[in-house]
Amino acid sequence: GSTIGILGGGQLGRMIALEGKKMGYRFITLDPAKDCPGSQAADRHIVAGFDDLEAARILAEETDLITYEFENVDDKVVRSLESSAFLPQGGELLRITRHRIREKQALEKAGVPVAPYRVVKERTDLIDGGRSLGYPCVLKTATGGYDGKGQWVFQSEEEAAAFDQFHPHQEYVLEQWIPFEKEISVIAARSTLGEVKTYPPAWNIHRRQILHQSIVPAPVDDPTLKQAEQLAEKVAESLDVAGLIAVEMFLLKDGTLLVNELAPRPHNSGHYTYDACLTSQFEQHIRALCGLPLGSTRLLSPVAMVNILGEDVERVMKEMVHYPPEVKVHWYGKSESRPGRKMGHLTVLGSSPEEVMDLLKGVNTELK
Ligand code: ATP
Ligand code: MG
Ligand code: MG
Repeated sequence: GSTIGILGGGQLGRMIALEGKKMGYRFITLDPAKDCPGSQAADRHIVAGFDDLEAARILAEETDLITYEFENVDDKVVRSLESSAFLPQGGELLRITRHRIREKQALEKAGVPVAPYRVVKERTDLIDGGRSLGYPCVLKTATGGYDGKGQWVFQSEEEAAAFDQFHPHQEYVLEQWIPFEKEISVIAARSTLGEVKTYPPAWNIHRRQILHQSIVPAPVDDPTLKQAEQLAEKVAESLDVAGLIAVEMFLLKDGTLLVNELAPRPHNSGHYTYDACLTSQFEQHIRALCGLPLGSTRLLSPVAMVNILGEDVERVMKEMVHYPPEVKVHWYGKSESRPGRKMGHLTVLGSSPEEVMDLLKGVNTELK
């Protein structure tokens, strides 16, 4: 069997390895943390930073194919892997999706609608941008942000003018605040052979800008579901994606869909596929990269996925023995728990969306 290398050993790397091992692959993870979630599922783990060229060289030597579970890999490492290893996703996809401005420009070029935005480097850009976009608006660092980190919402020019955290080597994007009706996401898979498949859109509910739960099927009309899947397909084709691309969207009252951001990997909002689809997003990622036919994305059952954050762990531990059998708990094997840290998730499977909602009330109202 072949050996797959994963840059990153978080929960995504863990679940890729768990699914891939069922398919007969070996896994080597690379991550600075020794006992990370991915390392527990992998056959071998290399403790190294994502800027460690020597470690990347060893990973390349010992594997047949390399993928990544997050975007912040040092560009030197990406370039060296592109030339010395088999990185089917390519470096370009990574360079685009880890930089919000490049990502928005690529989307616009593909004819995919995004929220109105301005590039911001300094104070005057922010003030000018705020005047043309209007308030409220949200400033985001171009790189490095996740779970709402590196974002500031301004309600007025006074608030924007008081912002003094500009970092000289950082670029920012200022976005119009979108009063969306719902947030949805679609995960598309595109194989190295060019085959494309999309998963059913998820309705995503955030709390404090962290994904809290995803509900599938998303309670929106069929034409919108179809349009969302087509948009994701278009993104996958135009960015020449290999593997998965998660497409986060805002659905407006009038039915318009705007793309918020992309992730070129398995995505939190696709965890529902693990229990509720014929092929999980993790298996699909591997299939797409290994040139296998893509698996069916058919939804087997209505489902809700709920994230378990650090502050929820104690309660879930205590109550999970009483959960009904339709609820499945997934732990990521993280030894250290912090508020806001993703420690696991649960999926609630019902025979109808109504049943999912009923079951969810039983387990979820307690999750803060
Ligand atoms: P992720 O953890 O998904 O990578 P992130 O930190 O990269 O998140 P975004 O997805 O850009 O950040 O924003 C986080 C959340 O903040 C969004 O899911 C949405 O709820 C809200 N948000 C972001 N930008 C806007 C906007 N322009 N208008 C309205 N809400 C927004
Ligand atoms: Mg993001
Ligand atoms: Mg997001």
